[in-house]
Amino acid sequence: MDLKWRIGSVTITSVTESETPTSPRFLFGGLDKAGVLARAEKARWLRPHFVSQDGYLLQKIQCLIIDTGDHRIAVDTCIGNDKARHNELWNHLQGPFLEDMTKAGYPPDSITHVVCTHLHVDHVGWNTRLVDGAWVPTFPHARYLFVDTEYEHWRSAPGLFGTEDVFGDSVAPIVEAGLAEMVAIDHELSDSVRFQPTTGHTPGHISVVVESDGARAIITGDMVHSPLQIADPDLCSSFDTDSEAARATRRAVFPGWADGETMVIGTHFGSPTGGTMHPDGDGYRLQV
Ligand SMILES: [Zn+2]
Repeated sequence: MDLKWRIGSVTITSVTESETPTSPRFLFGGLDKAGVLARAEKARWLRPHFVSQDGYLLQKIQCLIIDTGDHRIAVDTCIGNDKARHNELWNHLQGPFLEDMTKAGYPPDSITHVVCTHLHVDHVGWNTRLVDGAWVPTFPHARYLFVDTEYEHWRSAPGLFGTEDVFGDSVAPIVEAGLAEMVAIDHELSDSVRFQPTTGHTPGHISVVVESDGARAIITGDMVHSPLQIADPDLCSSFDTDSEAARATRRAVFPGWADGETMVIGTHFGSPTGGTMHPDGDGYRLQV
């Protein structure tokens, strides 16, 4: 499904690489499908969009393209094609993502900036593509903005899964090509686009704030993987670098997002992916 949001004079367009039911055990080690269904009984808004009848999480992997008129900013670049990955669903993909971007009105050479909310495998993949056996920048006219603390962390840390070299095939070639720019965690990209620090999931994790003509949207990144964590901000993902910090970040940040007006766009939330947040018991609900 093509999704597009208008935030004042800015548009945000989703280009989806994959949309699949996901086992809750993959994201939340201790939580099984029965546990998900029990949570969906209490937070009924989770169904049907975000939790399936049999307790799977309805998730997607997508790139969100912010178009300000002056800038075309690709936020998070998914898994990518041709990459050797430990996860068999992601290994040596051959998907039509770049064609889909072009069909959506954003051919790769029209992108002016690439922003990665963090440097995990499913957020950096299309930074590069394979040409004649070498990884080259997919977006040759873009500046790729990396948060300095995030870059430094992953430069020296092993990948999440096994021996796959995410940094080597999807981040380092950008630096070598001279397209990378190291920026602060509270970077302001333009009048209408800025970073909001949301650390914990990774040390330099950001969300992206879009503000135009009195309207506001947030692109969450993975500080919240699933709407289950909107219902229960204390629920932590298996992939957090520091779960306690990630939990504290959700508790600190959500009250500011839950004004009933801000469009909160979940980077991994299944369609319709965005909604307004509202306080609900000890957590929140997403109204789509
Ligand atoms: Zn992710």
